[in-house]
Amino acid sequence: MKKDIALELCDIRREFRINQGFFKPAATLKAVDGVSLRLMRGETLGLVGESGCGKSTLAKLLLGLLPPTSGDVLVNGKHLAATDRKAMSRHIQPIFQDPYSSLNPRKTLREIITLPLIVHDIDSPAERRKKTEAMLDVVGLPKRVIDSYPSQLSGGQRQRVAIARALIMRPDVLICDEPTSALDVSVQAQILNLLQDLKREFGLTYLLISHNLAVIEHLADRVAVMYLGRIVEERTRESLFAEPGHPYTRALLDSVLTPDPRLGIPDIGLHGTFPNPMSPPSGCAFHPRCPSCFAPCKTAYPANDSIIGGNVRCHLHDSPAQTLELVHS
Ligand code: SF4
Repeated sequence: MKKDIALELCDIRREFRINQGFFKPAATLKAVDGVSLRLMRGETLGLVGESGCGKSTLAKLLLGLLPPTSGDVLVNGKHLAATDRKAMSRHIQPIFQDPYSSLNPRKTLREIITLPLIVHDIDSPAERRKKTEAMLDVVGLPKRVIDSYPSQLSGGQRQRVAIARALIMRPDVLICDEPTSALDVSVQAQILNLLQDLKREFGLTYLLISHNLAVIEHLADRVAVMYLGRIVEERTRESLFAEPGHPYTRALLDSVLTPDPRLGIPDIGLHGTFPNPMSPPSGCAFHPRCPSCFAPCKTAYPANDSIIGGNVRCHLHDSPAQTLELVHS
């Protein structure tokens, strides 16, 4: 079982101290607040939530770009904190949102894609050249662009270069942080289909971070929903999209626009706005916005309840005994 786990997060927390001005004490922002997740080998786990919910901080923790305040990240069973970043980068690679800023504009595609092999001192120059040309073919770019600069390419082509650079080391896990959100709608589907094909061809495992539920539905096998630094629902894709268990997940699904303009902007039934993460609400952090909020929600943080296809943190799914205990506490 353990060897089937590509990536594991154990009660990960990341806090930031925020300076509030001269006369106020510094505040603590809990960007990631006790997240435990498992990414099984060969699967795509979709991580979804609004901007500011902590998704990108989580990606940085997984890539070793930020140290956690507490908790542990295991990659192939090895503790990330105790492993050399260079060695870990052979197993886990990122694909970032913006292919315009993630590629060095002064380097040619040949230099960009070959660089990881040079850093790790893998292969002779001739073999690197062969691998780089082959990788261009894998991501659907013609060999003639190999000596071009990123500025000579379209957004979709640049994202293909970023994917080629990530794959040249043959990693096991790709962390895809909003991989299509900076691209034109017309090329988004091409990049998603490419990711799907590469997963099959190279036996990859993906953590796919997106605020776009259509992207998640297209690629993910399982979905984790994040709200204010915590995972509130984690289910198989089919069960989550068929019958969301958490009111926040339901609101996210209801907020997807339909192509019919006569239907207008959907009414998702949420009260208020996204809370200030520096002073999160008590109990269930979603309670000020939740249309199903009832008394225990304001004081008690929900336990992790089992539900078809996964688990959910919402008092609506508590057993009668749990509810009775909360009412009398
Ligand atoms: Fe809504 Fe209560 Fe469930 Fe939170 S615990 S999502 S407030 S019903």
